[in-house]
Amino acid sequence: MEKVAVIGAGTMGNGIAHVFAQSGYKVNLVDVSEDNLNKAISTISKNLDRMVAKEKITEADKAATLGNIQTSTNMASALSDRELVVEAATENIDLKLKIFKDMDQHTPAGCLLSTNTSSISITRIAAVTQRPAQVIGMHFMNPVPVMKLVEVIRGYATSDEVTKQVMELSVKLGKVPVEVNDYPGFVANRILMPMINEAIITLHEGVAGVEEIDTVMKLGMAHPMGPLQLADFIGLDVCLSIMNVLYDGFGNPKYAPCPLLVNMVMAGKKGVKSGEGFYSWTHGTKDLVVADGFKN
Ligand code: NAD
Repeated sequence: MEKVAVIGAGTMGNGIAHVFAQSGYKVNLVDVSEDNLNKAISTISKNLDRMVAKEKITEADKAATLGNIQTSTNMASALSDRELVVEAATENIDLKLKIFKDMDQHTPAGCLLSTNTSSISITRIAAVTQRPAQVIGMHFMNPVPVMKLVEVIRGYATSDEVTKQVMELSVKLGKVPVEVNDYPGFVANRILMPMINEAIITLHEGVAGVEEIDTVMKLGMAHPMGPLQLADFIGLDVCLSIMNVLYDGFGNPKYAPCPLLVNMVMAGKKGVKSGEGFYSWTHGTKDLVVADGFKN
């Protein structure tokens, strides 16, 4: 396999295109926005510059990586000769179902179709295609060039052969793949999000303050970042939407999102992306400053 397409050139899509291109794959990077495609190439270029500066790669490696990426806003032509597509468009079920119908229509019959979704059922996505055995989850972590894990998610109909191919491919990308089955939240978010939600409940009940909760988890559990800070980085809207996927998918009240999380999202406090969550981020992301509403 050497011809790959990545759909969506945002945070994850540019990172996924980067790692495939750096491993020698020919990548067609597709987005509806020309502007986002340009931004993606500039981000990849800057990230490669950093690797050159650290002497992890040479200038020639950088040029070869960028040379392996073509951008396009035309999905039909960009997919017509591909062997694998990784979909990393916006997390929206209707959008993903539409994109997968288009991917099914525009790719050759043998092409594998994968998605980087954080929370949408692979089985549901696969069901809108004529090739559910060739549909699989490839859940990369952010930032993709740095993080080693790929959660490889088997849908209900995904074949053993396709799973094996994607596991081997992930190793070729320098990643560590872990095979999991398709149930709400897969493994990563099923464990991470309830922990974050519990941290918010702990804050909401007044057990401890923002800094105290994060300090306990950083120094006590050796987490690199406390759960409330991590929630701000992920986006509180994303955390809420994944908790709702767990709550709806399992029908178990233990996954109910904390009312404080719901209120903060409704108030537009989404974390780093909106400038405020549990911390204030208007001054940048280096220093931790607890948001006004949570100061002791
Ligand atoms: P993002 O908003 O940064 O980027 C999404 C991109 O998709 C945008 O550039 C948008 O223009 C493009 N897009 C929208 N509709 C499209 C279409 N019809 N065709 C082509 N491109 C289209 O989002 P992101 O954070 O990169 O997330 C992408 C996917 O990765 C989501 O499914 C998300 O759940 C998943 N994910 C995100 C993270 C994370 O930390 N951000 C981690 C793991 C998985």
